[in-house]
Formats: sequence, structure tokens, C-alpha cells
Amino acid sequence: TYVVTEACIKCKYTDCVEVCPVDCFYEGENMLVINPNECIDCGVCEPECPAEAILPDTEDGLEKWLEVNADYSEKWPNI
Ligand code: SF4
Repeated sequence: TYVVTEACIKCKYTDCVEVCPVDCFYEGENMLVINPNECIDCGVCEPECPAEAILPDTEDGLEKWLEVNADYSEKWPNI
């Protein structure tokens, strides 16, 4: 799965949402998250993010953000 990280907070762009083929972005007050159960790992969103906030979960140190994405994608509305 791909993971939305800290740089997304207060970012106003939604380019990632527009390109995702499976609509797996969810939105809270301050940031977006990706539902790890729905993401098909296509990678299309990563280069579209102007804040470089989206990373593959194969990168080190993303445990906390993976948890944030999994948790909040169950609570926030799909966009
Ligand atoms: Fe959507 Fe693909 Fe990004 Fe996953 S990697 S969130 S499926 S655009």
C-alpha cells in the first residue's frame, strides 16, 4: 500500500485523489489518508503529490503513518 505522511497536513491539493483508480482516499480536517485495504499499489498518486507526502510502505520508518492511514480511513469520509 501507499501511505500519506506528515507533509500532507494542511496541503490544499487533491491531485492524488483525482488520479487514484480505486478512489481509496479519505479526508479529515487537516489531511488525507489512503485506505490500505483498498489501495492496489499502482503508485500513480505518488508523483502527483506536490507536497511529496505519499510514500510506498516499503520505506523505513512509516509504521506510525501506516497506522494513521489504516485507522482514519475507517473513520473519515471517502473522497
Ligand atoms: Fe490509489 Fe494507486 Fe495511490 Fe493506491 S497507489 S492510493 S491505488 S493511486
